[in-house]
Amino acid sequence: MQDWYGQGLPHIWLPYTQMQTAPPPQAAVRTSACRITLTDGRELIDGVASWWSAAHGYNHPHIVSAIEAQLKQMPHVMFGGLVHEPALTLAKRLSAIAPAGLTRVFFGDSGSIAVEVALKIAIQYWKNIGKSGKDRFVCFTNGYHGDTLGAMAISDPEHSMHKAFRHSIVHQYVMDIPSDEYSFAEFDTLLSGIQKEVAGVIIEPLVQGAGGMRFHEPDVLAEIYRIAKKYDLLFIADEIATGFYRTGNMFACNEAGISPDIMCLGKALTGGAITLGATLAREEIFAAFLSDDPDHALMHGPTFMANPLATAAANASLDLFEREPRLKQVEAIEAQLREELAPCEGLPGVVDVRVKGAIGVVQMEKLDKYALRQKFIERGVWIRPFGDIIYLAPPLVIAPEELARLTQAIHEVIKG
Ligand code: PMP
Repeated sequence: MQDWYGQGLPHIWLPYTQMQTAPPPQAAVRTSACRITLTDGRELIDGVASWWSAAHGYNHPHIVSAIEAQLKQMPHVMFGGLVHEPALTLAKRLSAIAPAGLTRVFFGDSGSIAVEVALKIAIQYWKNIGKSGKDRFVCFTNGYHGDTLGAMAISDPEHSMHKAFRHSIVHQYVMDIPSDEYSFAEFDTLLSGIQKEVAGVIIEPLVQGAGGMRFHEPDVLAEIYRIAKKYDLLFIADEIATGFYRTGNMFACNEAGISPDIMCLGKALTGGAITLGATLAREEIFAAFLSDDPDHALMHGPTFMANPLATAAANASLDLFEREPRLKQVEAIEAQLREELAPCEGLPGVVDVRVKGAIGVVQMEKLDKYALRQKFIERGVWIRPFGDIIYLAPPLVIAPEELARLTQAIHEVIKG
């Protein structure tokens, strides 16, 4: 172990970790394609794509060279009063591939900020068009939209990891995702009662990620959209985790045939190479911010927004999505996950096995996440269980033999 790590962890503060009891994390030194190398030389096959982001695998030469070229030319410049080609090109390209009508792009610096910006746009939109009091959101049980205060408030504060903050955040309307005629009727009635104070409905389309890798059907999503529109609410799709083919379509909304009013992107937007978030909005929403009144402008502008390195990386990532057969790869991953995770059904402690696109989930009665993580490392794979979930969301370029190593490790570890 190198010195920088051998001293333990006296200064760093780790995410989502009870540091008094958690075992120390692994130290990574290098990544390449679908592999992570640890300081002691062990190589792990990555089943998580660095939280769903490394869609093309790590260190993809096309993304690396785009970042290198941009690094020499202009690593960063403020976006207030200045613009630059990588950001303008990316905005144009994102509007072209997004669900119809999402013509305007605001670049933030992470997924959570993309969500915060979406919420601010929605609230101010209604204010700007003279409809006051519409500043609440409808969101869903087991939803997760990020770790900032606004994002936590729409992330099911009761059930999520954000319990500690449930009395410190703005109250929002957290509802169960409706699933049948009765619950849709109830959802409709609830929305009709609160529409005057609601700015929008926000959802992770088709897959609720951090809230337990829960799936809902495209027709459920389409019906939620229809009811939101019936009450003239803005429909906000958080595609930060689901976007860029993860669920089997460029965007999960495509499968339901819906076009949101606002859409949030992050994670795989840069192919996972560097942080970037984007909030896309319909032209009518943007138009509501145009006025002689300076107070009608959107007051948001992170220092590192639209960072040239990040936007150049995202353009390179879009080249790869265009040029390389990612959709076919996702279809192949889905088929392989279905086949190879199926034997986990019926193993002791397994509650459910489910697959959607390049996401494979084994839900357990309970699990010891650290013990499992260690067993996976011993088998040469990087899988990070949480809650009652063991899941795979590998790079979309993973080879069938590598994916087989991941599914086999899951089967072996559960079998014990
Ligand atoms: N929304 C969803 C659906 C996410 O999965 C995440 C990432 N965990 C976020 C928002 C927040 O993104 P970030 O971690 O980049 O702030």
